[in-house]
Amino acid sequence: MNRPLETINQKIPIDPKFGVSLSIKRDDLIDTEISGNKFRKLFYNIREARAQHHQTILTFGGAFSNHIAAVAACGHRYGFKTIGIIRGEEVKFFEQDNPTLRFAKKMGMELFYISRSNYKNKEDVNFSEDLKAIFGKFMLLPEGGTNDLAVKGCEEILSAKDQTFDLICCSVGTGGTLAGLINSAKPHQRVVGYSSVKDPDLKRGICRFVTHNNWDLFQADCGGYGKVDPSLIEFINGFKTSFNIPLDPVYTGKMMYHLMRQIEQGVFPKGTNILAIHTGGLQGVAGMNWRLKQTDLPQLI
Ligand SMILES: *Cc1c(COP(=O)(O)O)cnc(C)c1O
Repeated sequence: MNRPLETINQKIPIDPKFGVSLSIKRDDLIDTEISGNKFRKLFYNIREARAQHHQTILTFGGAFSNHIAAVAACGHRYGFKTIGIIRGEEVKFFEQDNPTLRFAKKMGMELFYISRSNYKNKEDVNFSEDLKAIFGKFMLLPEGGTNDLAVKGCEEILSAKDQTFDLICCSVGTGGTLAGLINSAKPHQRVVGYSSVKDPDLKRGICRFVTHNNWDLFQADCGGYGKVDPSLIEFINGFKTSFNIPLDPVYTGKMMYHLMRQIEQGVFPKGTNILAIHTGGLQGVAGMNWRLKQTDLPQLI
């Protein structure tokens, strides 16, 4: 796995009356299969897996997980067997309809479905022992891929050319990506996370990986993790039409939706130079459209 090349910061025109400027770091363009922040989070973990001579990587995720898709693609490309422990036994009946799971299988990932109640216990020691008894030796990556090595990878998102920005924005699931940005931001920069999950322990989880307090967390779940509403769909479609930048419905769409509202409401001081990180996740669009087909809501374009 090679370190990704530096990605571009694409400027988004903002009405001068709001007094701020905005660019988007196109980390979604790092790789089409191992997307955005998942590439960063896997980079040092894959090196470690090689160093420890692991042949198998086991991880966890939901039925539409960007992390599951990325690990499966990573295994396929770099020669690891991959096992995905998927939340929800009922999900297996839709395996061939669900674009994420279909892709993971195509990449050779072995999928193993467990009940939602068992999934809650996935961090228990007994649970790992059971998994070892079934699958043998493996390297375990936590749900969402967040660990010390993942945070280290995310510390490389910002580069020297980004020092002109005052405010760095990113979407948040487990907070590993945000932690990397917090650790690598310069003293004059603030980092803000837009959380797609409602998790009272999130802040504490992030604090485990960071030493600075140059950051804030905003709630941006738009009615729940993985949920969308008509205004979000309209926003994401409009953003793609206007700026030719696709956003995903679970993370980056929600971040940009909230960030644009905040800019219009004058939340940030005049003159603030904002950089939003596009963390990728675009494989999730097909899965969302598959779910939307079963509703009256429009499709994502
Ligand atoms: C996984 C993911 C996130 C969340 O990353 P964390 O490090 O878990 O907070 C954000 N954006 C996209 C597109 C993702 O796929």
